[in-house]
This record gives sequence, structure tokens and C-alpha cells, in this order.
Amino acid sequence: MGQEDAEIFAGARIFGPPAEAYGTGLADLATATSGWNDQSDLVNTYLARMSYIYGRNINAKSGLDAFKSQLIRIEATVQVRDGLYGVFDNCDVVQFLGCLTMAAKSLCGRDVQVYIANTRGSTPKIETLATFANKEIRTRILNPKWAEGMLRHGFSGAIEIDKNVELMFIWDSVHSDTVKEWMWQQVVEKYVFDNMRNQLIHANPHAFKSIAAWALEVARRGMWVPDAATLTQLKDLYIQTNVNYGVTCCHHTCANMAFNQFVVMGSSLSLDQLHQFANTLNRATGRTVNIPAGADAPAAPGPAPGTPGMEVSADEAGEQPAAEAGDEGQRAYEVAKTDPGAPGQPSMPIVAIAGVILLLCLFGAGYFKAEILSLLGFANFSSRISSISSLFSSFSWIYFFMIFLKFLSA
Ligand SMILES: [Zn+2]
Repeated sequence: MGQEDAEIFAGARIFGPPAEAYGTGLADLATATSGWNDQSDLVNTYLARMSYIYGRNINAKSGLDAFKSQLIRIEATVQVRDGLYGVFDNCDVVQFLGCLTMAAKSLCGRDVQVYIANTRGSTPKIETLATFANKEIRTRILNPKWAEGMLRHGFSGAIEIDKNVELMFIWDSVHSDTVKEWMWQQVVEKYVFDNMRNQLIHANPHAFKSIAAWALEVARRGMWVPDAATLTQLKDLYIQTNVNYGVTCCHHTCANMAFNQFVVMGSSLSLDQLHQFANTLNRATGRTVNIPAGADAPAAPGPAPGTPGMEVSADEAGEQPAAEAGDEGQRAYEVAKTDPGAPGQPSMPIVAIAGVILLLCLFGAGYFKAEILSLLGFANFSSRISSISSLFSSFSWIYFFMIFLKFLSA
């Protein structure tokens, strides 16, 4: 190493992503749950991504060792919150403050204090992240007024609730002190087990499935250890809603087959219902989940008969999964609304169009009867058949409208 490089590495204090890139990339990695096993994967990705040195005449110089040597000395981290945005409604705090803390703890092997410089209001104060996060969880996602306010916005409000739950998962993954187990328990009781479930499903069944899936994923990873009955009920509701509404395919659901296997293994639903879930998943992803016992039982595709007492029923809005089969292992598929009437019965419009053309010809024959008869040399007889022709034209129009109405109703 030359003297110039040695001076740059020794004096480096400002680190960030590569030139012209933004963010740590950790929010995307953490939520793609099949892409990482334990926290060391997240730490390595953070270090690789954020170890570029910036300074006077230094623009994104790669300096992993210099970055590590600074992280080892960290005792506390802090980030400012000065507006309405908190720590669970956007990914910036977790990907910068959370991941910086995670990487420092991992390298130095001791605890690192995390603070929020809360400059909201007239009296700025320093709070621990745990205090700040606890207040935000209680006043937002666990607050009935907040939930009702979100659900008044229907589909998009349900997405906002899901986003907060997703941020809980990311925080729990990178800095588990922020999210306590009782928080997961209460989120599940409120949004998955309680009356809020029906409102949420009605507003946006895909957001409901996503929320249930986040809770199941933290349970699968042992970040939250619910009692057996809670876990079974959570699995059953997740499966049942997927059968009724189709799979919601994204990074933490369809794309993670270990997750899907975990879900079916502890479910108390019937084999028939489990096979329906497996079929729905297979139609969407082309991938197979193994049903525990009696897996050779015939599987019947289509909507589930429903589980008594669970009150998870597909409404009649026509939500259908886009059942696209794929052969790439990690591919995920979006769920789209389809028009059940669109692809079927192509013969009806063709018959209707042919009928309309025929009737237009008959009407034309009636309207231009004089010219036609003249051309054929029957001009003298035109007056005799005039009344018959007019009558025929009228019947043509009536028949035309009947066909048209039939066409519209089809
Ligand atoms: Zn997802």
C-alpha cells in the first residue's frame, strides 16, 4: 500500500454505497426471505455495499478494511426523526441506523446503544430506539383508531398496515431488540384472529395474507415463539385464505418454498384443503409443496369448502389468482384480477355478428327494393309488394334489437 492510500484509509470517516447508487440494499434483501439464512448474510451484504469512502477528492473508493476498523470502535448510533415519519413506516431508518448497528455489533462483539434524536415538537430529546419504537407500535399499529383510519381507505389502507408489519419483520431481522415478542402476539391477535380480520380481508385479502405470512415467517425463524394453538390457527387461516382468494405471490410467500412447507406441516386443516392449497401454489409457481400424511390422496382444484368457525370466505367479487405455471425456481408471480367471462364462449359473438350482418342485408333489400326490382325488370310489380316489404323491414328491426340485447347480456 502506497503512502497516499494509507492516508486515505486511515482518515476515512465517511462511508456509503458505490458511486451513483442509493441505499444499503438491506431492506430488499431482508424481505426476500429465501435469499438469506441468518444475520451474517445481512451483515456481509451491508459491509460490501456500504464500504465506499467519500471525502475531499475521494469519490467512492473501495475500503472494506477501513470501514470495518471504524465499525469495531462504535459504542452508540443515532439518527434524527423530525417529522411524522417514524421507524416502521419507511425503510430508511432500519436500513441505515438498524444495519449500521447490526454490523457494528457483529464486528465488535459487544452491545451497541441505539438512540433516536427526537426533534419533533418544541423540546428535542434523545430517546433509546426501544422507547421510540415501543411508542410508535402502541400509537399506530396496535392503536384501534389508527387501524380504523387506515381501513377507511380500503385497499391502500390495508397495504399501509401490511407495510408496517413488514418493517417490524425487517427490524426484528437486523436489530431484534426493537421488536418484542408481545408485539407480534398482539399484531396477530388484532389483525389475524380478531374482528379486524374480516375488515382487512374485505378491504384487501392480499394484504391480509401478507400480514399473516410475516407473522408465520418470524415464527419459522424462531424470532417469535407463539404457543402451539396460536401457531396452528395462524397456519390454518393463512392456508384457508390462500385457497379462497388465490395465492399472493411475492418475496416472502410463493418465492420461499421452505416457508410454504413450514405452513402446511403444522396445519390442522383436512388433507383435501391442504391439497387445494398445494394445487393453488403449484398453478401459480410450478413448484410443489409436500403434504404431510396421505399425500397421494386425489387433489381437487377449485375453491375450498371452508372451515367451520373460521369465517374466512371468499366474497363474490371475482378475485382469482393468475394461475401461471413457471419453471424457474425463485420466480414469483403477481396476483391479478381476471374477468371470468372474457375467455369463454367465443361462438356467441360470432353468431350474433353473423345475424346482424344478415339482418342489415335484409333491411337494405327492403329499403332499396324499388331500385332492385327495377334492375330485375319488375318495376311494375313494386307497388304490389311494397306493403309486404315494409312489413318485412319492420320485423327485421325488431329481430335486430332482440339479437343486440342478447349480445349485450352475453
Ligand atoms: Zn413478500
